[in-house]
Amino acid sequence: MSAPSVASSPLSQLTDPLQQQPAYVRVALDVPLPGLFDYCSAQPVEIGQRVIVPFGRRQLVGVVVACPDAPAVPAEQLRDVAFVLDDLPALPPQWMELMTFASRYYQRPLGEVMLPALPPPLRKASAYTGKRAAGGPVKRLERRRAKAAGRTEITADRAKAQSTPAPTLNPEQEDAVARINTAEGHEVILVRGVTGSGKTEVYLQAARHVLERGEQVLFLVPEINLTPQLEQALRARFSVVGDEACDKLAVLHSGLSDGERLESWLRAFSGDAQVLLGTRMAVTVPMPRLGLIIVDEEHDASYKQQDGLRYSARDLAVWRGHNLGIPVVLGSATPSLESWNHVRQGRYAHVSLTRRARDVALPEVRLVDTRRLRLEQGFSPHLLKAIETRLNEGEQVLIFINRRGYAPVLNCSSCGWVSQCPRCTAYTVLHRLRTRGSRLQCHHCGGQVAVPHACPTCGDQDLKPMGRGTQRIEEFLSERFPEARIARIDADSTRLKGSAEKLFSQVHEGEVDILVGTQMVSKGHDFANLGLVGVLNADAMLFAQDFRAPERLFAQLMQVAGRAGRHRAGGEVMLQTDYPDQPVYRALQRHDYEGFARYALDERKSLGLPPFAYQALLVAESRELAQALQFLKLARKFPLDNGDAYPTQTHVMLYDPVPLRVVRVANIERAQLLVESHSRPALQHFLAQWSHDLFVAAREARIRYSLEVDPFEI
Ligand code: ADP
Ligand code: ZN
Ligand code: ZN
Repeated sequence: MSAPSVASSPLSQLTDPLQQQPAYVRVALDVPLPGLFDYCSAQPVEIGQRVIVPFGRRQLVGVVVACPDAPAVPAEQLRDVAFVLDDLPALPPQWMELMTFASRYYQRPLGEVMLPALPPPLRKASAYTGKRAAGGPVKRLERRRAKAAGRTEITADRAKAQSTPAPTLNPEQEDAVARINTAEGHEVILVRGVTGSGKTEVYLQAARHVLERGEQVLFLVPEINLTPQLEQALRARFSVVGDEACDKLAVLHSGLSDGERLESWLRAFSGDAQVLLGTRMAVTVPMPRLGLIIVDEEHDASYKQQDGLRYSARDLAVWRGHNLGIPVVLGSATPSLESWNHVRQGRYAHVSLTRRARDVALPEVRLVDTRRLRLEQGFSPHLLKAIETRLNEGEQVLIFINRRGYAPVLNCSSCGWVSQCPRCTAYTVLHRLRTRGSRLQCHHCGGQVAVPHACPTCGDQDLKPMGRGTQRIEEFLSERFPEARIARIDADSTRLKGSAEKLFSQVHEGEVDILVGTQMVSKGHDFANLGLVGVLNADAMLFAQDFRAPERLFAQLMQVAGRAGRHRAGGEVMLQTDYPDQPVYRALQRHDYEGFARYALDERKSLGLPPFAYQALLVAESRELAQALQFLKLARKFPLDNGDAYPTQTHVMLYDPVPLRVVRVANIERAQLLVESHSRPALQHFLAQWSHDLFVAAREARIRYSLEVDPFEI
């Protein structure tokens, strides 16, 4: 391998060769092994610097986490650091602290936390040692930027020099901004504002205050692709700070290329970008002058990473704010019960925005009791009439149904056969294809099969779709309202890059009369001309087994209901249900978050569920269900067999291993074991030992498992 030019540290030239001693470095590597790895380095290395080291027959990028006086293994067994990377200043201590906390809290090796937190080019050895490395990704980016700067400077300056003036805040918004601005040191401030109350404006003005002090703002959102409005607003607002016209904003999300991601990361890390707007991955970006963290829609499930390090970006944001001594703002119309409980116990400050910023009333919510009604393709006469009325008045209508595809299952009416995925314990969903014909698709493994011409069991040719998804609703509405322009927004219609933005902008431009969509349409959009929201099939979520289902349903319905009548009075929501007396619906009808939260928290308390208990979930996977269950049974016994290692086990409850609800996905059987405690420290202490024992046992049993702290779904 040829030595890249970046690899020799300038420091080495300053060191007197006579005094030079071999330095030992302890390195975190992204390998599925617990612990850290010691190496020898001929040149001095700082903590937080990245190095390239040999590992087995590979070369890996690692982060130096310590420079011990003596190595953990005999010095002669140590291998040498191949290169010290000095294209970046060392990662700062506060970043190392955040990573260390996440590693301990979520029970993952430090290297598996640290390296994935860096943009891919910074953690790939080949980006430095390959033939076309050309000094490494940072140098390459700098050269590209220098070239581009010469060409675009003049036009860019002119375009950026206009910033949008801020509207005058209403008194509630003013109070909220003042509360954030006067926060002393670390405080968590929950901004609870009804939909359309102008929370964004509160964030923007609080952020401005921080920027004027020369500090940075980290702005977390659940989704960026779906809500380009926010990015535009931030860009417009912060293109001028003081007298200076320049781009202060960096954006980070998974839709970016590796190069774009690296650039945003570097701009936040260097302090060049003052505002970092990003999805959950942005929570780990080191920022030298961070003064405020904002977590918008803090209740949103997207903040939870669902594989690898299963972290909650909201919870890490709160920890980071605490560690830095800076305020953290959590905003939502429907705060998570965890956050709301902190407010009730006085740990979080609370400000509320009770009215809509444009001074229009919240929409009226009507529950349509469908028990004795004749429905037409799932629509009650009331809802159809209301759609017609709104369309005649030139207003837009949103039909919300949280199920994509044409129909959730295909069914044989003579023998009762239903379409099932051969690889999963799940029905296959009927999808109409854009071109022609249909397909049966499994929403769990993604597998697709052709629609059979006849029933595979009895040969009957009369196969019928059962139930309805977005496609079928769209089809029905276009027959029923032939004049109306209809758009469908779901994961299928927005698969191509940029297509969601395009569809949403058509809605905003008034080129769409009826919008049919899944929860994708409920988030963040400020539709100006939307008068009616119709909700179909909400009942499907009512009796889900997960204890968080009612909370999630309530939040989702409040969100989608909040799209109605935002700019003009007379907004209306029609929710069809067979269970109009359910507390979730009653609370929705009264726009009563607090009432719902009180009811739900009481219930959680009486059942001893989070936030009144702390949980971890162990999931084992195997080709044989018995093997997965066997592993969990074994895991359940560790504390019994080795009591001394588990001093807190009396405070920890281990449930019986059970198969997952969807037990088989892609021919892998899954089972779970729930761990619960009333004491967070007792649980953490237990998990530290348990995760070690699990690792050893799983290697022996050759079984895959995951351990999730604070599981979102159980
Ligand atoms: P939320 O995020 O709380 O649902 P938004 O931030 O989308 O609400 O604001 C709702 C609407 O109110 C937007 O159209 C916004 O431009 C407008 N708005 C916000 N603050 C004000 C204000 N002080 N005066 C007038 N309009 C405002
Ligand atoms: Zn049949
Ligand atoms: Zn499947």
